[in-house]
Amino acid sequence: MLKGQCLCASIHFQINKNIEAIYQCHCSLCRKQSGTHANHATIVQESDFKWITGQDNISTYRKDTGFTSSFCKQCGSPIPNQVGQPHLMWIPLGLMDDEIFPTQQFNFCLSSKANWEQIYLNSTDYEHLPTFAAITNIFK
Ligand SMILES: [Zn+2]
Ligand SMILES: [Zn+2]
Repeated sequence: MLKGQCLCASIHFQINKNIEAIYQCHCSLCRKQSGTHANHATIVQESDFKWITGQDNISTYRKDTGFTSSFCKQCGSPIPNQVGQPHLMWIPLGLMDDEIFPTQQFNFCLSSKANWEQIYLNSTDYEHLPTFAAITNIFK
């Protein structure tokens, strides 16, 4: 069983299976919804998903096209939502507290990725959060 929660810890959920496949979607909608270059997510059967607490704290925005974004009313974290018919559950992986060991990774909509995304492919890597002084120096 894998557990996840939002930033403010009011919404908790669990997934009753291993997560085998994960994906990033780089489309313009997923970039806005996630606030970054892509969302990083998985999809599970609704029967493998269970809310534990905080469903009252979920707000949902739906575009005319049907694209749906659910988020915590209190902290704004993206929250799992139903997709497709019959329903599956979309799971933003950043909410998971347990380690996952996916065996398959996918990229979706690379043709519409942000033009600046490749900067992450030639990155300077830090093992930990740099000091505030170093951050100040980097982002001066
Ligand atoms: Zn929250
Ligand atoms: Zn997308």
